[in-house]
Amino acid sequence: MRKTAKRLCLENINPYVPGKPIEEVERELGLSDVVKMASNENPLGPSPLALKAITDYLHRISLYPDGNGYYLKQALAKHLGLGEKNIVLGNGADELIILVGVAYLNPGDEIIMAQPSFSEYDFSARLMDAVPVCVPCKDFRHDLQAIAAAITEKTKIIYICNPNNPTGTIVTQEEVEKFLEKMPPEILIVFDEAYYEFVDDQTYAKSIDFLKKGLNILILRTFSKIFGLAGLRVGYGLAAEQVISDLNTVREPFNVNSLAQVAARAALEDLEHIEAVKDVNRKGKEFLAAEFTRMGLFHIPTEANFIFVEVGVDSKELFQMMLRKGVIVRTGDIFGYPKFIRVTIDTEDHNRRFIKALEECLKELA
Ligand SMILES: *Cc1c(COP(=O)(O)O)cnc(C)c1O
Repeated sequence: MRKTAKRLCLENINPYVPGKPIEEVERELGLSDVVKMASNENPLGPSPLALKAITDYLHRISLYPDGNGYYLKQALAKHLGLGEKNIVLGNGADELIILVGVAYLNPGDEIIMAQPSFSEYDFSARLMDAVPVCVPCKDFRHDLQAIAAAITEKTKIIYICNPNNPTGTIVTQEEVEKFLEKMPPEILIVFDEAYYEFVDDQTYAKSIDFLKKGLNILILRTFSKIFGLAGLRVGYGLAAEQVISDLNTVREPFNVNSLAQVAARAALEDLEHIEAVKDVNRKGKEFLAAEFTRMGLFHIPTEANFIFVEVGVDSKELFQMMLRKGVIVRTGDIFGYPKFIRVTIDTEDHNRRFIKALEECLKELA
């Protein structure tokens, strides 16, 4: 059989490792009531308003969605105090990360990202035959000085994941201010703020203010995390009109489906639900941190809805053992930390199940 030669860059692409789906674990291990704490999904689910919006819209799914996302962009613009021309919608923030690559990266161009951080930046670069340059975190935080020092003539994009996945750490207003001051204006700084709404720390960088000042930045946010709509795939980007226009040029016309659009609009309105999610997250964060401390496990204080914790054993082995107890977590090896796991902060009941399973497994491994 003749074989079509694939693009050479495919040799260097490691496929994304998604969190293991609940159904798969239940099927493979014959379990029921499996808890997934691996993908930072929302334990309270979507807002009831979002569910109603979807139900009310269902009879219209024979029609193409509004490719311009007019009403959702209008709602976001009002919500954020920006113009509709400063907003691009994506099939999840993930799609926007790909579109950034498609719009801006020529072969040999460089992007800079932290290590450990979100792997899609690396993927988006490699897909375009560009080069991902990784700068190690310092104390599990973005090292903005080292990132600035890594800039070369080929640097096109810098990704700052804030809060950072998997560490849950943030960069502050002051740090970002200093960083942006010396930034060459032709480099696009992408702030990935997928966990923006969870942040409590008052020193958190207000990226929209920098955008309003005219700096060359793109802010990515999503409806997948605090809004609980991960399955519908909708995220958005905020930037200067020219950047939005570049991203729209490479976007397919109907990238965000109509149910996602109406659900996202409704979700934005439900402030009560958002507060409820934050509340559960704060309590869960305190509980898990206290339990890790009690167990003598090093963990990083988090501003997001997950915690990166050093379990001191091979995380892949621990992962398999936890699976058999019906708890799915994320192994740290994919982030370069084989003895860490990343766990999503969940409801009180699930958090307790997780801790119980973790303790049992660590005892067995000791
Ligand atoms: C979850 C996540 C995203 C992507 O979310 P979408 O579901 O594609 O909107 C982007 N960045 C980070 C850091 C994430 O953790």
